[in-house]
Amino acid sequence: MIPYITPDDIAAVTEVLQSGMLIQGKHVGLLENKIRQIANVKEAVAVSNGTATLHLALISLGIGKGDEVIVPAFSYVATANVVELVGATPVFVDIDSDTFNIDVSKIKAVITEKTKAIIPVHEFGLACNISEVISIALTNKIHVIEDAACALGAKENEQPVGSFGIVASFSLHPRKSVTSGEGGIITTNNQELAAKFRALRNHGIDSENTDSMEFILAGYNYRLTDFQAAFVNSQLERFDQILTQKQMLADVYLNELDASVMKLPVVPDGKNHTWQTFHVVLEEKINRAQLIAALKERGIGSNYGAQCIPATKYYQEKYGFNNKASFPYAYRAYTSGLALPLYYGLTKEDVKYIATEINKSIKNDL
Ligand SMILES: *Cc1c(COP(=O)(O)O)cnc(C)c1O
Repeated sequence: MIPYITPDDIAAVTEVLQSGMLIQGKHVGLLENKIRQIANVKEAVAVSNGTATLHLALISLGIGKGDEVIVPAFSYVATANVVELVGATPVFVDIDSDTFNIDVSKIKAVITEKTKAIIPVHEFGLACNISEVISIALTNKIHVIEDAACALGAKENEQPVGSFGIVASFSLHPRKSVTSGEGGIITTNNQELAAKFRALRNHGIDSENTDSMEFILAGYNYRLTDFQAAFVNSQLERFDQILTQKQMLADVYLNELDASVMKLPVVPDGKNHTWQTFHVVLEEKINRAQLIAALKERGIGSNYGAQCIPATKYYQEKYGFNNKASFPYAYRAYTSGLALPLYYGLTKEDVKYIATEINKSIKNDL
């Protein structure tokens, strides 16, 4: 994954550096406006990274010790780590094998009176069945915190992700479609929560009443710098172009990859995929490590896509899950999943070459 940085992006950063106004300021405000439009929400608050947005969401909703939070078993570990960090317990739910998103039919069975929230993830840039999650959450009076870290621009039935839950989280890490280096945005339609996020990101200062310099909460320093905001704002100018290019490249993979030896990603009706990651699941008989090494020799970088979180060392030792039995699809995606190169700077020919080399390497191996 190589971020595509243009001379305009560099000029935008340089301009802020020359101004001397480095921390949260005008460009952070502009970034928040842009995200408000893309996600169609009333409030957007920029912070220092995606994990910080999830942390602020849990804290602001009063989630802590004794509470349970439902998370998909297959995601980046940060989705569950934040639950651990506020002292609550993550309750894992397996994924759907076609979309790698939470299997909504398995949510009800794990809801208890301790369940306070669910963090559905729009994995790899594809919206999960978020309307169904919202309806289950409403019935059971639990909060929905969307982990849209890698899904800016994704939609379900024309409604953008980030606008469904009480709060939503976006990341601006270099692996995402647009980046500030490190960065994150938290969105909500709830003004009271937004004021809390603004205070908590800035040492607890009352953001509604800036003249008073009143410290109303024990806050963090989760601020984003203004040059980081200017950097990502410059990329957002070509956001549609980035998503279109990625869709075109994904279509090449879908046409060229040998579907008889791997499961290709599925995009259900009513959704667009923003392709933060092009992720396949290899047939079990294929040696993934050997394939990754063979591709590396040809200058092609590939890796596994996300973790079966309960199978990672910390969660395994703490909770002792039987992952293969409890989370079969998450475990399979973790052990046989492969994320392929897909970023704005690649061409159709590059992707054709990569797909051909993958098909060839697998044939040689079998
Ligand atoms: C990237 C990512 C995060 C973490 O974002 P950071 O900005 O790296 O902290 C969390 N959840 C998911 C699903 C992600 O893809």
